[in-house]
Amino acid sequence: MIEADVLLDDEQRKLSQVVRDFADSVVAPAAYRYDTERRLPMEIIAQMGELGLFGLPFPRDVGGQGQDYVSLCLAVEALARVDQSIAVTLEAGVGLGIVPIYRHGSREQQERWLPDLLAGKALAAFGLTEAGAGSDAGGTRTTARLDGDEWVIDGSKQFITNSGTPITSLVTITAVTGETVGQDGEVRKELSSIIVPAGTPGLEVGPSYDKVGWHTSDTHPLTLTDVRVPAGNLLGERGRGYANFLRALDEGRIAFAALATGAAQGCLEEALRYARERVVFGRSIGENQHVAFTLARMQARVHTARLAWLDAAQKLVRGKPFKAEASVAKLVGGEAAMANARDASQIFGGYGFLNENSVARHYRDAKVLEVGEGTTEVQLMVIARSLGLDG
Ligand SMILES: Cc1cc2nc3c(=O)[nH]c(=O)nc-3n(C[C@H](O)[C@H](O)[C@H](O)COP(=O)(O)OP(=O)(O)OC[C@H]3O[C@@H](n4cnc5c(N)ncnc54)[C@H](O)[C@@H]3O)c2cc1C
Repeated sequence: MIEADVLLDDEQRKLSQVVRDFADSVVAPAAYRYDTERRLPMEIIAQMGELGLFGLPFPRDVGGQGQDYVSLCLAVEALARVDQSIAVTLEAGVGLGIVPIYRHGSREQQERWLPDLLAGKALAAFGLTEAGAGSDAGGTRTTARLDGDEWVIDGSKQFITNSGTPITSLVTITAVTGETVGQDGEVRKELSSIIVPAGTPGLEVGPSYDKVGWHTSDTHPLTLTDVRVPAGNLLGERGRGYANFLRALDEGRIAFAALATGAAQGCLEEALRYARERVVFGRSIGENQHVAFTLARMQARVHTARLAWLDAAQKLVRGKPFKAEASVAKLVGGEAAMANARDASQIFGGYGFLNENSVARHYRDAKVLEVGEGTTEVQLMVIARSLGLDG
């Protein structure tokens, strides 16, 4: 199979292999059981913490592993080959949970929250989406007002990953904290980010959604009723909540694209193995040119998707603009995962329709790769804008 290992250094190649081995020996054998039980396996999250996966892209002086964003993406890709839910727990845990606190948190906030988050002993979530605010965060209706030295928060959030696990320590939410008048004279909502510790009175974590896929990943609606947190829980500057979140989202899309690439790779590996083994009409099905060409296309999709996220991630770590590249990577990654899951299921025939088969799980799981962290259409808007079009 084609590898893009020439683009990696020795440490990254080694990390990728370590996480692959962990995925094959620990995650894959349990994936069907956890998918059926629909629960996040905390014992696996603990082992990922011990491997240092949650601290990968952060410097050692804050308790991280001193590697970079490419390394995080490699770990996410390696996990997603066998289980997208486990991979997104890491991807969202780092990209949406830790990155905003590492980047915008005060020293006090970092000292309080980062040690357990980087060690994988705690998980953080980010709540942007609401019933009327998904692709358009301008629709945010959750409010936060200052009452003395406390924020009082009221509203609700939808689809919040990692928000209800036994080790969730906080949810950072976006809320309308006032109004601003732009240079054009237009009045706009002032959006800010505020840290809400888990267990704060008034923060209600609703029941898990009955999702099509990603059964093991923890996703809940949240309701905030008269939630009071100290004024010091403001994350970053007041009024910069949306801008800061967009930056986190741009980065997150690269890891999300790596996740999609891993899913596409997992489908290819399984389908290739089966095409060699399965004998129909007296020969292995892989000897039929149609099946061979299907697998060749699957390989081409994986390679294209991998090169796209690697390019975006390399630009990010080198401090170059990467916004459009991240959207391209997310677009082609999601499409590759969807197409490969469909093709792999077809190659498995009836067995591809059984939930115990990992390609069937990928088939259900892959759909959300075209939705989460910005839909396919939102990626097209970003790419169109990079071409100077309104989008
Ligand atoms: C499993 C899962 C986990 C998630 N985790 C989180 C999380 O941790 N935190 C969080 O904040 N959110 C999370 N989300 C929410 C996710 O980011 C949103 O679902 C996504 O951004 C889309 O928003 P929406 O569902 O409101 O769709 P909408 O914004 O209502 O869009 C509906 C459809 O209209 C299309 N559309 C909208 N506007 C345009 C336009 N101008 N042009 C063309 N097409 C358009 C969209 O592309 C989409 O196809 C999660 C979602 C899921 C399913």
